[in-house]
Amino acid sequence: MRLLLVEDDIDLANGLRESLRNNGHSTDNVSTGKEGLLAIKSGDFDSVILDLGLPDIDGLDVLKEIKKIDSTFPVLILTAKDGIESKVRGLDLGADDYLAKPFNIEELFARLRVIERRLGTHVSSIITHNDVAIDTQAHTIAVNNLEQNFSRREYMIVKTLLENIGRIQSKEQLETQLYEWGEEVSSNTIEVHISNIRKKLPTNYIKTVRGVGYVVSKL
Ligand code: CA
Repeated sequence: MRLLLVEDDIDLANGLRESLRNNGHSTDNVSTGKEGLLAIKSGDFDSVILDLGLPDIDGLDVLKEIKKIDSTFPVLILTAKDGIESKVRGLDLGADDYLAKPFNIEELFARLRVIERRLGTHVSSIITHNDVAIDTQAHTIAVNNLEQNFSRREYMIVKTLLENIGRIQSKEQLETQLYEWGEEVSSNTIEVHISNIRKKLPTNYIKTVRGVGYVVSKL
């Protein structure tokens, strides 16, 4: 799930972003309501974690605007410890869930799993294509119904390719994915991973488009 984190406490935001990425959620963060709304309008995100205490716009007003853009867009609100009233108002305004600060990171992960399940059929946790099935919740890949051992980086590359079936992914795009997940990337990283991944997938599953990138084709 691609997450947007709207939080003006920079230390908290950085920590959360790292934890979320390590938990398999590609996460970007912004620190104002205005930036948050722009990011959501871009359509690049599946869900937002929204702090209610923002420097520019009241978080509840941001929430109202989000719901005007897309009434089904999943929103998890973060409230201050004593913010019971804003919590209730947030839920009334259509927030899916809330967490009161300080919260346990495992609790946040659990809430996000609920949102992921709610997104359900549209963003299924299992993508199956030509004998390969990737479970984006369990972070596993099965080939012909047999689970195969993929490293974290290999998993992320396969996931990106399968989320973009029929669309060529350039080496740079794949590198960006790894960066976003907090991985170090050197110049031949992608080639090496692709070569190892190919040994575990059906023959010719990932095609090389010379000079352009890699693709898992639709057929
Ligand atoms: Ca705040």
